[in-house]
Amino acid sequence: MNMKSRTLQEIKQKIASGEATVLTAEEVSDLVRNGEEPEFEEVDVVTTGTCGIMSGTAAIFHIKVGEPGSFKKANRILLNGVPGFPGPCPNEWLGSVDLIVYGTSHSIYHDDYGGGFLFQDIIKGNEVEVEVESISGDKLKTTVTMDDMGTAQMIGTRLAFKNYTAFVNPSLESVTSIFNAVNMEGPFKGLSFSGCGELNPLQNDPHMRIIKGGAKVLLSGSEGMVLGQGTRSSDEKPNLMISADMHQMDPLYVGGFKTAAGPEVFNSVAAAIPILNEDILKDTFITNKDIKLPVADIRGRHQVLGFTDYASVWENITERPVYYPEGCQNCELCLVRERCPTGAYKGNLNEEICFGCGMCDYSCPHGAFQMKRGKIKFSVDDRLVEVPMVCRQSDIIRARKLAEDLKKRVTDGSFDLGEC
Ligand code: SF4
Ligand code: SF4
Repeated sequence: MNMKSRTLQEIKQKIASGEATVLTAEEVSDLVRNGEEPEFEEVDVVTTGTCGIMSGTAAIFHIKVGEPGSFKKANRILLNGVPGFPGPCPNEWLGSVDLIVYGTSHSIYHDDYGGGFLFQDIIKGNEVEVEVESISGDKLKTTVTMDDMGTAQMIGTRLAFKNYTAFVNPSLESVTSIFNAVNMEGPFKGLSFSGCGELNPLQNDPHMRIIKGGAKVLLSGSEGMVLGQGTRSSDEKPNLMISADMHQMDPLYVGGFKTAAGPEVFNSVAAAIPILNEDILKDTFITNKDIKLPVADIRGRHQVLGFTDYASVWENITERPVYYPEGCQNCELCLVRERCPTGAYKGNLNEEICFGCGMCDYSCPHGAFQMKRGKIKFSVDDRLVEVPMVCRQSDIIRARKLAEDLKKRVTDGSFDLGEC
């Protein structure tokens, strides 16, 4: 029997006439879980999304720091204390600096501040302190906001991996890494993981038929483009290189995330999959329980100890903590305040900033936070181990919200599907 298919133009016409059916990947997975797999005629576009720590995030800025002729070339530059790399263009005598800042760079002044927090501040429109040292030792200081920057372009060298690895520490010695907000205690005292399972863009397009170089996507809410496959991309673990203008980004979707090894950066990607044929539709039928999540030794990251799946980490849990102020004992040292990776708790819980990582519930000794984080079971050398979840490094709520935002934009025609 011939496979049913349609052209992208036909889908665009249906969108223009208000007849297209656009579903999020989660809505498709819910139908599949209920035994109601949608037919080809019932879906035109599926939107996907993911949000999590994405260490490959960097930004390119052009910043005016002085009058033309005031210095020859920048040798060193700091934005809110976060070092950038001046160049590649030297901008000789122009009084301005082109630079690249890594989302993973750390402030030289504040241990808890880094590139991810800086990007969020810039997108919020906050003033940023700029310090420049020229090659002849001149020092210049100024403040800028994003409105002053002709260029504020984000580039992700490897974002939105199709699949990730969870980590545990099987040893007695605690391990410091970016894969947990606190030192990972062992043996098997806690687990951390990334990835949004059935919502992840490349889980829904595993052969990269649609989400590939040239595809339009949302990067932290801004329309961007896939430049190609990212670094370390492979058939088994593909990921994407993406770029978008930061001026249109939403600070909800990108920011800093403190880890035991210093501040990191989280970012969000959403992609639309036009359902051009039945095979493309079938690829979106994936559900969390179908997606394997290897559990590896955090020391070295490559020794896989066992397997779980995304249903174990994202189902039968709560996605956000509940804070009970009456249970707070006003401890001299509040471990929640100290550890909350996004700064969502500073005596009050800021739900907008909260990432749902679980560190508050894990850390508060008096139970002022309640959250169902879940326990993950897997076999190691034929022995069943059960490990509590201590740190989620992806946020399913932001991922879902971005996929829903993209669904809305596709449906109302404000996001053009581009060319496949
Ligand atoms: S650790 Fe818990 S009880 Fe103590 S101050 Fe922080 S939130 Fe309150
Ligand atoms: S879950 Fe708790 S620790 Fe994590 S971001 Fe939210 S308030 Fe902070």
